[in-house]
Amino acid sequence: MTHRDRLTIVIAACNEQDALPLLHPRVRAELERLPDIDGRVLYVDDGSTDATWPLLQQLADVDPRVAALRLSRNFGKEAALTAGLDLVDEGAALILDADGQDPPELIPQFVALWRQGHDDVYGTRLARDGEGWLKRATAAAFYRLIGRLSKTPIPADTGDFRLLSPRALAALRQLRERQRFMKGLFGWVGFRRVALPYHRAPRIAGRSKFGFWKLWNFALEGITSFSTAPLRVATYLGLLTAASSFGFGAWVVGKAALYGDRVAGWPTMMAVILFLGGVQLIALGLIGEYLGRLYMEAKQRPLYLVDTWRPADVALSDAS
Ligand code: UDP
Ligand code: MG
Repeated sequence: MTHRDRLTIVIAACNEQDALPLLHPRVRAELERLPDIDGRVLYVDDGSTDATWPLLQQLADVDPRVAALRLSRNFGKEAALTAGLDLVDEGAALILDADGQDPPELIPQFVALWRQGHDDVYGTRLARDGEGWLKRATAAAFYRLIGRLSKTPIPADTGDFRLLSPRALAALRQLRERQRFMKGLFGWVGFRRVALPYHRAPRIAGRSKFGFWKLWNFALEGITSFSTAPLRVATYLGLLTAASSFGFGAWVVGKAALYGDRVAGWPTMMAVILFLGGVQLIALGLIGEYLGRLYMEAKQRPLYLVDTWRPADVALSDAS
């Protein structure tokens, strides 16, 4: 009896009834191709309202290597992935999108890099097919910004398609923050990281759950979770305005003392008041962003709630 390393493919799915029947056979086929790996698939149903859950149960019925987890409602992809990764108690985990954008055909390459001793093998998008110039430009700007603001290494054009070794998984599990910017959390963990460039395919079925607004909030999440630089910018902005205000104040007082004051200068006064008001509001809003996140964190709520957990049926003897 030879020991086989366990690999669990973790797939978060929210309303993916059309994509899953197409994806599952591809994932299974790849696992079959790895004879020295004890492969499992763990689906997390993130509060789907379509037939995703019955479908996952069917898959688990016919396939002893499939485990299925249903959350009590939609918690978002990051929480769903966290729930899935929490349940991987042995071996490595590989995260895959349910919509086929991350091709399962690359699983052997991920495993090969893991076997070479890497802890965090992350897929990097070579081309962004089917994405408009606006999304590309904003994505590029975002990665540049967060790269400069944050000390945590966050590689550009990297999604959640990645393999985590057992020790990287164990480390990730210690990070229980509620505001979960996964790309940043993976980067924070560190260890031996390596990029695996790949072509991101278009969705096989269904439609994307991430619109512009969601991506904007996602970007805010990333920056506030991994950098306090905006707060420092607010401080410098405040210092700068204060300094110029003192200068301007001295000039106003000096002028009045020398030449008297004939109650003129309404435009300057308005300009100064509006400028100061604006700067103050921006700084307040910034503080509010951080305070709000602190508040969410302070509540110490669980990251997700489980409705049903269906472990894989593979008996231990069968697995080794
Ligand atoms: N997803 C999820 N919960 C959500 C939104 C998305 O589990 O609230 C899953 C979704 O089923 C898919 C993956 O996250 O497997 C990526 O979502 P999507 O394809 O909509 O995002 P995009 O690829 O457009 O960034
Ligand atoms: Mg997608």
